[in-house]
Amino acid sequence: MPARRIIAVANQKGGVGKTTTTINLAAALADLGRRVLIVDCDPQANATSGLGITGAEVVSSIYDVVVLGQPLASARRPTMVPGLDIVPATIALAGSEIELVGLARRERRLQYALDADMGGDEYVLLDCPPSLGLLTINAVVAAHALLVPIQCEFYALAGLGLLTHTIELLRRDLNPGLGVAGIVMTLYDPRVALSRQVVDEVRARFPDDVLSTIIPRNVRLSEAPSHGLPVSRYDSGCRGASAYRALAAEVDRRLSDADVQVTGTPAMLAAAPGTDR
Ligand code: ADP
Ligand code: MG
Repeated sequence: MPARRIIAVANQKGGVGKTTTTINLAAALADLGRRVLIVDCDPQANATSGLGITGAEVVSSIYDVVVLGQPLASARRPTMVPGLDIVPATIALAGSEIELVGLARRERRLQYALDADMGGDEYVLLDCPPSLGLLTINAVVAAHALLVPIQCEFYALAGLGLLTHTIELLRRDLNPGLGVAGIVMTLYDPRVALSRQVVDEVRARFPDDVLSTIIPRNVRLSEAPSHGLPVSRYDSGCRGASAYRALAAEVDRRLSDADVQVTGTPAMLAAAPGTDR
């Protein structure tokens, strides 16, 4: 296993499974024996609360790191999953989109914090907000690769052109080495023909990037965060838990196999902007 892999879990649409994927992929990677850090980059702090951490108990958060320039280690804390730490978010982060505008190197604050960190992580997962603002830009600039969850619904591809276009600009100007760790299809319902059609369509358009593991719609996945638990600790036998175990094995294999997987010119980034329906 090479050094640390920093993966931004990004899609500017809300409700596509970014946070669910961040929490459960991270926990499953930790269960494989990897040392994993989640950085919650979303002011909604769903990854933080989904791991049982309430805003009131957070002393130091990603806000202190990105806006105030404090070391990442000062905000890092363990979770109930051995090997999985988190840098939590709080609602204080909501103002940072505006506060960051006035700061030097405003797109690189998270990258600098990660560069200076000696935490020894093998994976860092950055849970992005549902926007293309400065917090998402900080995450994408700091990342080696993107993991893009896409919900199996009719408008799955709408808006993806905007994301790929933004990523092209970021690659050109700020992060030339940015790769794609994969597209993960989420909220799949095998009883719905449309779900299968969407998977086929996304696979046809991004043949090299779509991961073979598909995350099913599973009520246990939506219940687990309200108990502050990853699905593996809430109901390890459910279909959602086994899907995220399979995803972790696939991602781990894909990213440790070949550097080319995360540094090539992935089809996703070559897709012309504005071609989505
Ligand atoms: P995002 O972070 O992209 O906004 P979330 O991960 O928060 O999306 O998911 C949105 C909602 O859908 C949440 O209520 C979550 O619990 C639920 N959800 C996500 N993935 C699944 C799934 N595979 N099965 C059932 N519910 C899911
Ligand atoms: Mg989220």
